[in-house]
Amino acid sequence: MRRSFLSSLAVVGGGTRAMRWLPATVPKLVRDEPAARFDPSEPDAIEKAVRYSRLRERLWLISTAWGFALDGFSLASRTPRTLADTIRAVVQPKFQTPVFVLAWSMQDWLLRLPLAYYGGYVVERRFGLTNQTRRGWLVDSLKGFGVGAAINTPLTTGFLSIARRYPQRWWIIVSAIALPITVLFAGLYPVLIAPIFNKYEPLEDDALARRVREMSEAEGVHVSRVMRMDMSRQTKKANAFFAGVGRSKRIVLADTLIDQFTPEEVETVVAHELAHQVHRDTWKLIRLSGVATVSGAWLLHKVFPAIVRRTRPLTGASTLGDPASLPLVSLVTGVFGLLAMPLVNGYIRRMERSADRYAVRLTRDPQSFIGAMRRLQQTNLADPDPPAWVRVLLHSHPSIGERIRWAEKLPK
Ligand SMILES: [Zn+2]
Repeated sequence: MRRSFLSSLAVVGGGTRAMRWLPATVPKLVRDEPAARFDPSEPDAIEKAVRYSRLRERLWLISTAWGFALDGFSLASRTPRTLADTIRAVVQPKFQTPVFVLAWSMQDWLLRLPLAYYGGYVVERRFGLTNQTRRGWLVDSLKGFGVGAAINTPLTTGFLSIARRYPQRWWIIVSAIALPITVLFAGLYPVLIAPIFNKYEPLEDDALARRVREMSEAEGVHVSRVMRMDMSRQTKKANAFFAGVGRSKRIVLADTLIDQFTPEEVETVVAHELAHQVHRDTWKLIRLSGVATVSGAWLLHKVFPAIVRRTRPLTGASTLGDPASLPLVSLVTGVFGLLAMPLVNGYIRRMERSADRYAVRLTRDPQSFIGAMRRLQQTNLADPDPPAWVRVLLHSHPSIGERIRWAEKLPK
């Protein structure tokens, strides 16, 4: 929920950008983002949410443009070529690719850090959405880089060596390997990665845990654990999600949700999450990510040689398997991802509407659904009715305004 653009799920292509996205994407496969709330009785709160949302959207535009500009500038200055040649001169052959990948990701992370700091810390603090200290934010960011690098370096190295060895068939091999890796991450994420950033404990509120468990079991969803997570460590925003697949499956309630929502509202949120389980939405997203990977990789295979031919004198990039071509791969797959965003988000918004219908049918309590939406609008500072381009391109959920108006029309 916290990071709002679930759509970057488009794991397009087998390139670096896709690899860079993987750690950010997999958690989103199993995590849900409730939107924010809408309260006409508090115009000031709405005004603040609108200001916050416009700022976030501007930041998204700037950081997207910045990402493309970084790749473009570095390619035009032949930095990747120089770096790859330097590494080749001083590092043993078998370590050359991983060293390049690591050095490149570190440089990329550092160049994006100022904007990430402004968006992730300064803005969140200014709008009163976090109590985190600057140091806490930096430590989390460093951990994020470390985890990302530990996952990306071997994956990207593997991708490059497959592209080198099988220049014609690499896209089939990479697509075939990507799917089991996605499923593996979906299973391991709650157990291995999420606890690096937050503390997960069994929920002590026995009554709430029992209600949640009973509701799930009655709908045929077996939950191994009901957990409470200290989301307040990073933000005041609220969230709940099912995490894991198979035996690792658990439902996680953020402390911010438990502390600020009424038990009936928490129940509505849980019912919505339950709907995603019953509808097997995690698997649908994994399937979607598989389709995106195959089509992105095939497209990359088709267009990359032509792009290299036209830009080679400028960039020094050569084949797909050459590490110095990675920033070009990242640029191309970044464009694919951007084009896929409205489609992916449209698909997810449909699943979300269907989960809302299921939740209200299950609880038979549209009033608590509306209450939960209003509260989400306030805790998450969501714009109840964002502009059309934002809804279509960036949002994985229907707007709070749309969700409330839908629920208000239901028979009481
Ligand atoms: Zn949902």
